[in-house]
Amino acid sequence: MTDVTAVTAVDEEHQLFRDALTSVQADGRRRWIYARKPSGRYYRARTLLSWVLLAFLFLAPFVRVGGQPLILLNVLERRFVLLGLVFWPQDFYLVVLLALTLLITIMLATTTIGRVWCGWLCPQTIFLEMLFRKIEYIIDGSAEQQLRRDRALALPGARAGSVVIGKRVVKHTIFFALSFAIANLFLAYIIGSDALLKIVTAPPREHLVGLVAITIFSLLFYGVFARFREQACVLACPYGRVMSALIDRRTITVTYDRRRGEPRGKLLKDLADNANRPAPGDCVDCHQCVTVCPTGIDIRHGVQLECVNCTACMDACDDVMQRLDRPRGLIRLTSEDAITAGTTRWMTGRIKAYGTLWLVLISIVSTLLLERPDIDVLVLRQPGTLFTTMTEGEVANFYSVQAFNRTATARTFHLEVVEPRGATITLLGKQDQVAPYSLSESRMLVHVPASALSGTTTPIKIVVRADGVLAQKISTSFVGPGRDLP
Ligand code: SF4
Ligand code: SF4
Repeated sequence: MTDVTAVTAVDEEHQLFRDALTSVQADGRRRWIYARKPSGRYYRARTLLSWVLLAFLFLAPFVRVGGQPLILLNVLERRFVLLGLVFWPQDFYLVVLLALTLLITIMLATTTIGRVWCGWLCPQTIFLEMLFRKIEYIIDGSAEQQLRRDRALALPGARAGSVVIGKRVVKHTIFFALSFAIANLFLAYIIGSDALLKIVTAPPREHLVGLVAITIFSLLFYGVFARFREQACVLACPYGRVMSALIDRRTITVTYDRRRGEPRGKLLKDLADNANRPAPGDCVDCHQCVTVCPTGIDIRHGVQLECVNCTACMDACDDVMQRLDRPRGLIRLTSEDAITAGTTRWMTGRIKAYGTLWLVLISIVSTLLLERPDIDVLVLRQPGTLFTTMTEGEVANFYSVQAFNRTATARTFHLEVVEPRGATITLLGKQDQVAPYSLSESRMLVHVPASALSGTTTPIKIVVRADGVLAQKISTSFVGPGRDLP
């Protein structure tokens, strides 16, 4: 462990890094990041997790639960399916509450354990690091080989040979094919796997809009994974931008232990100059942690916006420490306070507030989900109609009836007016059945004796029985001429 004065000096010197982006040169041009392939226990864990997540991502729109996809996010028709639960437009409040709960979950997780979503769970990172970059290592060789080749090609007069050109063609063809598959997958989440299958199998001229959409998304994904890469996390992603507002000194995140690591120095040089220098820290300034970083940053400067918490630098440094016979964890998951003040308390007022809000939201959403009726009937007066005077001294109103069946079995429902007394219903057509996970629409006439009207508008109450069991009570209004028939 080193003295605080040395640490402070290093801190001040290194604040300069905040003035520039690693991936942008001084003249504003892009600096390409050649990230070395990580290896180690965290990378193995990420690889395993990525297989599970990739399998889930690719299968979720196609796997059926009770006839429904595992996930469908049809924003065009406002129809959502989450883990087999169907949400119709009238469940929109639940979708909003679920989205809010997800947002608070991410905020709570970020405040507690940093940007773990980015490095371990985000589809952008998983596709880029676990698919595209791995393919690139196989075709183009290691990061060092790629760097040497590109530097040689940048020299004046240098020309790419046929092998290099061939590799580029193969690599970008594979990249585009993968992007095309991801675009199809993306569309399957929005329009559903059946609709996607129709677009894919029917002649292109019958689905020009779908074809254009798939082409645009394919080009977009290809651009992101082949060229834009880490810029998506560093510059474009809104979550990355709000991260600085969510984390604080107690947030557990990938952190360099500068008390243990500084003063850093080359191992052999330190040994030679040992008599004239303060006791060296554990960091041997080998830059292994920098070369594996997919965003190209040096985590030894401190917590940075560009860090996606992928833990590649932890693996790289652990490997160096192991070879030097020193304890692992010079870069580790810990908090700034734990490094500087030795405090291990991570529970802050903010975490308590987010945690409480999260529990409240989870309770509300769970209760609403559990209490959601299996069948939901919506009765609305037919727009543009007033009332009809019948010969038997009755007044009638038209209503539209929408019935939503949220179950996997066909349901029969029956409507009955319980207030005012003597009111009856005539269904227009036999439409009291609703198929599984479907919406049925019909119309009905409600007859009310003129003597039962309480004015030009009379409140009426309707009960819904689904398969003989009381399922819902509906209050609506009935219009008429008042008590006196013309
Ligand atoms: S600093 Fe480490 S954890 Fe952060 S992005 Fe770079 S390699 Fe990943
Ligand atoms: S890998 Fe470890 S020892 Fe090497 S420069 Fe990074 S922090 Fe220092």
